[in-house]
Amino acid sequence: MRTPIRITGVMIQYYIACKRELWFYANQINMNYDNEDISIGKLIHEKSYSRETKNINLGEVSFDFVKKGKEAAIFEIKKSSKLEKPAKYQLYYYLWYVKQTGKEIKGVIVYPKEKKKEELKLTPEIEREIEDIVENIKKIVSMILPPHVKRRPYCKKCTYYELCMV
Ligand code: SF4
Repeated sequence: MRTPIRITGVMIQYYIACKRELWFYANQINMNYDNEDISIGKLIHEKSYSRETKNINLGEVSFDFVKKGKEAAIFEIKKSSKLEKPAKYQLYYYLWYVKQTGKEIKGVIVYPKEKKKEELKLTPEIEREIEDIVENIKKIVSMILPPHVKRRPYCKKCTYYELCMV
């Protein structure tokens, strides 16, 4: 019997950005070289909000939760807003996931280098979209072969570039 698919926030991000990338990632195709973007992103993440942040593991997901006085939110810190839509859907997924436990919380997406932040809230439409995305991800990752290459502006920065652009 196939193990149930654990859907993480990163998988939601890849689903929006590139379904082929999602398939590689979910099927543990690892490209073992340093991705400078990942280290820079990690550094920004560590320096921002480090004192107020708590990393929460909830079932299949793990996210940063910040509480300042009476205000509480899930924070997602990103290096740049270039991949804004995938980042937003990752956060929507966390908000949706938390809602399944009976709690509603807002989300804040932060781009420290650009001094920019945006508050996100679930709407019934977004909730339905997330439910569809979750079902579609299960189908994509169970495919025997990855979806076809579809060139995107960020392909050159993708970990799987060498696998796709041969
Ligand atoms: S290189 Fe481009 S097509 Fe290939 S997985 Fe990455 S984003 Fe997708």
